[in-house]
Amino acid sequence: MLPAYRSWRQLTRLGQCRFALSKCWHPPRASTRLLHQTPPMRADVQLTREHYPVTRGSYSELTDDDLQQFRRILDDGRVVTAADELDIYNTDWWRTCRGESRVLLKPRTTEEVSRILRHCNDRRLAVCPQGGNTAVVGNGVPVFDEVIVSTQLMNRVLHFDEFSGALTCEAGLVLEALDTYVSERGYIAPVDLGAKGSCQIGGNVSTNAGGLRLFRYGNLHGTVLGLEAVLADGEVVDLMSAMKKDNTGYDLKQLFIGSEGTLGFVTKVVVQCPAKSNAVSLAFLGLKSFEDVLQVYRGAKSMLGEILSSCEFIDQESIACARDNLQLAPPLDDYPCNMLIETSGSDDDHDKEKLTRFLEHMMEKELVLDGTLASNSREMTAMWTLRESIPDALLRDGYAWLYDVSLPHHMFYESVEDMRRHLSGFSADQVTRVCGFGHLGDGNIHLNVTAPRFDASVEGAIEPHLFEWTAAQGGSISAEHGIGFKKRDLLHLSKTPAAIRLMKTLKAVMDPNGILNPYKVLPSK
Ligand code: FAD
Repeated sequence: MLPAYRSWRQLTRLGQCRFALSKCWHPPRASTRLLHQTPPMRADVQLTREHYPVTRGSYSELTDDDLQQFRRILDDGRVVTAADELDIYNTDWWRTCRGESRVLLKPRTTEEVSRILRHCNDRRLAVCPQGGNTAVVGNGVPVFDEVIVSTQLMNRVLHFDEFSGALTCEAGLVLEALDTYVSERGYIAPVDLGAKGSCQIGGNVSTNAGGLRLFRYGNLHGTVLGLEAVLADGEVVDLMSAMKKDNTGYDLKQLFIGSEGTLGFVTKVVVQCPAKSNAVSLAFLGLKSFEDVLQVYRGAKSMLGEILSSCEFIDQESIACARDNLQLAPPLDDYPCNMLIETSGSDDDHDKEKLTRFLEHMMEKELVLDGTLASNSREMTAMWTLRESIPDALLRDGYAWLYDVSLPHHMFYESVEDMRRHLSGFSADQVTRVCGFGHLGDGNIHLNVTAPRFDASVEGAIEPHLFEWTAAQGGSISAEHGIGFKKRDLLHLSKTPAAIRLMKTLKAVMDPNGILNPYKVLPSK
């Protein structure tokens, strides 16, 4: 049977593509404000201290005097103590962790953050820095009663250099707003992810977030030019260089990138934005096996070269989940494996010619069985929305264990197959699906197990098996989400004892009282 998709040339000659022809494909309107789509079930989430074996550190308890001091630093409206308002800040987006903080603070300036931290440090009050609260490993919410300090009111753009593309802004700027701002000036944010409507650049920097553009632009260790951070004792460290090259001693900003709020509170960021591409194309491909996916990936790297900007993988089960739970109809019929291949360049004709040659070659070799190209920006957004909605769809199965590991490419999908075998003894009432999708170009798979409800025996079977298996393959137990609370006692699987000792030494120097995001990143013992 001839595949419906033959080549980009034929489709444009017809003036249409499968999107336009398909009866069942209704591209959804793009919305990345996923937080607001989540069912309001936060109160049902088990308290972290009940779910996990964890003991409160010897921190002080919040008193009325502390609240008064906070109200002196901030005005009353920015010191939140109402339990119903606090609920959403105490619970993570994924509904797996819930703390019991009694206060949320919303500073507007670095000076206010500094005064808050100085007070907390003097009083030995533990603090949880919070951005958009979209993090995955329990790092953005308190474990016990930590004071939550949110950056949501620190969201101003401070400067943009139209020649270099360096954007200077406050940490609470929402990623999507940042992207829109620079996009109107001919640039894009160097990072893009499904939570962009809610996550903030300070949270992105603190988690060293990856996402869809990492393949082309690298991670934030490379694209953050400078930042400002407040140390635990309130001292402000200005590292706000906007220079691409700045070889002046230790690159201290790197310590704050990816340290998940355990070494300092990021208040400002200078981020290098790449120029927006004039020509962007996106193909959605159906394939019969993961072996073929790897061949197409290799082919894409050699035949598309410098214009290849993203390479994502989605398995059949993940597509089925988005279709069943969010009524998002996929652009192709059912294929065991699917790929999203994006090109970005400056010459539309040249880029499309290259992409066409590549796709024709892959179809001739019967590596790609079917495919479709987005023919306008709305279809492109719809394809990305399908990919980015999968985490939300998984949660709607009832309960979801979502993992983020990186692996050598040849073991990428074996992680899912291994987990399917490993959980095969559980009934359909205990495990709904095991599936995988993710950033193939970066060797980063999101492996997921869903169930109608939380089941400790399923969790016990998945963990630590997956992490030990990953380490045995030479992979990383956290590709892009960080260590947070959930993986801190697994850190040894990806870091040597000497490296962990050095991490502890840095923590002791920068935060001697351990007030910044305790119970996160560093092992409990
Ligand atoms: P939060 O969740 O609020 O905090 C994250 C961590 O950073 C916490 O440890 C917190 O204490 C710390 N922190 C926050 N702000 C500051 C600050 N100003 N100073 C110091 N510490 C701070 N992640 C990826 O990497 N790639 C993806 O593709 C991706 N896709 C996602 C898709 C969905 C649908 C969702 C919900 C999440 C996804 N994530 C992804 C995870 C998450 O969005 C990222 O980790 C993001 O960077 C977190 O940003 P945030 O502002 O929400 O931070």
